[in-house]
Amino acid sequence: MTQPTVVISLDLELSWGSFDLSFDDELLKMGRWTHDIGVPNLLNHLTRNGISASWAVVGAMMRPSLPDVSGLPEVNYSHFSKPWFSYIPKYGDESTHPEWFGASLLKMIKSAKPEQEIGFHSFSHVLFGWPGMTRERAIAEYRYCAQIARELGIPTTCFVFPRNLVAYLAELRDAGFTCFRDASELAFRFSKNKLKSIGAILAESFLIRCEAGWRKYIPDSSRLRRLRKGLERVRRNGGIFHVWFHPENLYAEWPRLENVVACFLEELSVQVRNGDLRCLTMGQLANEFRTKVAIEQGCNLSPASFPEAGYANYVT
Ligand SMILES: [Zn+2]
Repeated sequence: MTQPTVVISLDLELSWGSFDLSFDDELLKMGRWTHDIGVPNLLNHLTRNGISASWAVVGAMMRPSLPDVSGLPEVNYSHFSKPWFSYIPKYGDESTHPEWFGASLLKMIKSAKPEQEIGFHSFSHVLFGWPGMTRERAIAEYRYCAQIARELGIPTTCFVFPRNLVAYLAELRDAGFTCFRDASELAFRFSKNKLKSIGAILAESFLIRCEAGWRKYIPDSSRLRRLRKGLERVRRNGGIFHVWFHPENLYAEWPRLENVVACFLEELSVQVRNGDLRCLTMGQLANEFRTKVAIEQGCNLSPASFPEAGYANYVT
């Protein structure tokens, strides 16, 4: 059984995350706020508590401006009939459009201590496991991510699918990624690809949702209580407690959710220092898993040598 472990993953996307659902000034304001305030504050809470998180960042926002996207086959979703990049400023950059581009944020995260893991949240936040997506686009998205990874000197380790719509796993593995976040509470799953040969992070997970809409009536104390319960359970039973959210979520009703997150991180940090549990990134956990499997099987570490069993079988 895995020793008590907490994983924190963050989907960083500025305005890329929901323009296909609704595009308005509020979305851009949220993106800009995340760029200017949300990310620096969150990073500060992590570092002052000595905690490393996995930041899954939309590849296109890692750059100062949009690269040539003509190599990406168009998607064809029924809910968004425009070309995917319609709203993205073609000639803008981070200084004119910080709600879309965050190269400086990436630098900030990259140089933080303790070290943070930088992963990918696809290249352009297209929905992988969704009608209208093609295998060609998926492969191209992975290729664009890998290209940016090379440019910026970051590894292709961890991947988080937009809206957790997991699909095209064999292609993800072929692109060199070693882990992705699986969501156990998916309402829909269009992909027929079952987890076969890539280390996935599948664990009891807890999504911190934003305070917008009816959720603003959820008392902050009850959010914190649920997080504490997760810590308590993993301390008692072992296994993995995976907490994930979007830095963008901190915008609605700010600073309510930021305060909840700050308290949680402080408590987590005390427990880590006391040796009650450990906090790992997705990549560290996947690596540990691969090593253990390789030792048990006496085989090499090539991705093709993964067993059929998913991570869940291993950690529970
Ligand atoms: Zn997202």
